[in-house]
Amino acid sequence: MHRQFSGSRLIVASHNQGKVREIGELLDDFGVEPVSAGELGLPEPVEDGDSFIANAKIKALAAATKSGEVALSDDSGFAVEALNGDPGIYSARWAGPTKDFSIAMAAVNEKLQELGPNANKRSAFICALCLAWPDGHTECFEGRVEGSFTWPPRGDKGFGYDPVFIPEGSTLTFAEMDPTDKHAISHRADAFRQLIDACFKSDQ
Ligand code: IMP
Repeated sequence: MHRQFSGSRLIVASHNQGKVREIGELLDDFGVEPVSAGELGLPEPVEDGDSFIANAKIKALAAATKSGEVALSDDSGFAVEALNGDPGIYSARWAGPTKDFSIAMAAVNEKLQELGPNANKRSAFICALCLAWPDGHTECFEGRVEGSFTWPPRGDKGFGYDPVFIPEGSTLTFAEMDPTDKHAISHRADAFRQLIDACFKSDQ
C-alpha cells in the first residue's frame, strides 16, 4: 500500500525554476501549491547516488527533513544503450560548467562514432520522481520513453538532449515536437502518472 499525500502544499526539491514550474503544472489538477526548495533557501544536497531513484531520494529526503513538510524531487537523464546507459545520471554534468548541451550531445555522438557505423542507437529518457515525508518515508517511481539517438541535432523547441532523441513511433525529435505532444509521451509524464495513481487518488 502506498502512502497517500493529502496536503495542499508540496515542497519541490529543486532549485531549477523550469522543473518547479513543470511539476506545478502537472500538480495543478490536484489543488496542490508547489513551493520550491530554492524559494525556502534550503541547501542543495550532494547527489552521490548510483541511480536516478537514489539521487531523487537524496534530494526529496533532504528537502523534507529540512523543511518539515512533504517534498517531491525529480532526477532525470538520457541513456544510450551502446554506451552502457551513459550519460545517464551524469546527463547534466556532460554539459560542463557552462551547461552547454551542444557539447553534451556532441560527446554522445563522438562516443557512438568510436563504436563504428553499426553502433546501436537505441536510447531512452528516464525520470525518477520521489515523494518524501519528514519521518523518512519515501514513495519513488521511474518513468521512461524509448527511442533512438539521431545526428545531427534537429529542432529548437526543447531543452537538454531533446534535439538528438526520436521517440519510438515518431519521425520528429523531441525538440521538433509540439511541447504538448512531447509531454503526452515523455518520461516525466510516465513517472507522474504512476505517482498520481499511487499517492494522489485513493480514498485511504
Ligand atoms: P538533473 O537536474 O540532475 O535531474 O539533470 C537532468 C538532465 O537530464 C538535464 O540537465 C537534461 O540534460 C537531461 N534531461 C532530463 N529530462 C530531459 C528532457 O525531457 N529533455 C531533454 N533533456 C532532459
